[in-house]
Amino acid sequence: MTNGAFEYGPDRDPVDPNWPHVVIVGAGFGGLAAAQQLGNAPVRVTVIDRNNYHLFVPLLYQVATAALSPADVAEPIRHVLGRYPNIRVVLGEATGVDTGARQVALSTGEALSYDRLVMATGSTSSYFGHDEWRSVAPACKSIEEARAIRSRILSAFES
Ligand SMILES: Cc1cc2nc3c(=O)[nH]c(=O)nc-3n(C[C@H](O)[C@H](O)[C@H](O)COP(=O)(O)OP(=O)(O)OC[C@H]3O[C@@H](n4cnc5c(N)ncnc54)[C@H](O)[C@@H]3O)c2cc1C
Repeated sequence: MTNGAFEYGPDRDPVDPNWPHVVIVGAGFGGLAAAQQLGNAPVRVTVIDRNNYHLFVPLLYQVATAALSPADVAEPIRHVLGRYPNIRVVLGEATGVDTGARQVALSTGEALSYDRLVMATGSTSSYFGHDEWRSVAPACKSIEEARAIRSRILSAFES
């Protein structure tokens, strides 16, 4: 189990291990805004995301239409938050929350203890009860989905 112990490098400012531990799940606009507000505050912050990058979702349609490449809309989370000594970034997928024990379960089997939890995991696409529409109207919320749409569009032009 990970208990929030921090391993900051020598270039990091000291962080008080007794400060409350805030875990933020999701580094989209919501999670990043929360983390930036807590940067340099007397708390220890752990940001967990299943990707190591922050995705600028509003520009995804430009990836889907081949106007931008994926690297244009994704920025490493550590680059965005690296200036805050009290924030660490963990690559991982949260699979559950035990509010009684105050722990977030990760897909690796680890559990991360928290004093305060921010869930900022965004949303999923809804087909309003018509999941059969998914194959003909693909979602566009991730780089993988945008690339799949781009592939379909370019293939259609080739045809
Ligand atoms: C194509 C498109 C265009 C858009 N254009 C606009 C626009 O022009 N203007 C506007 O205001 N809004 C726009 N939106 C809406 C806007 O992108 C969302 O409102 C915004 O991204 C929501 O931010 P969020 O932080 O709540 O979630 P998200 O941005 O979805 O971030 C959620 C984060 O949580 C992570 N995550 C999710 N589940 C887990 C898990 N279990 N474990 C670990 N990490 C997890 C994800 O990897 C992601 O990084 C658009 C949306 C789309 C899809």
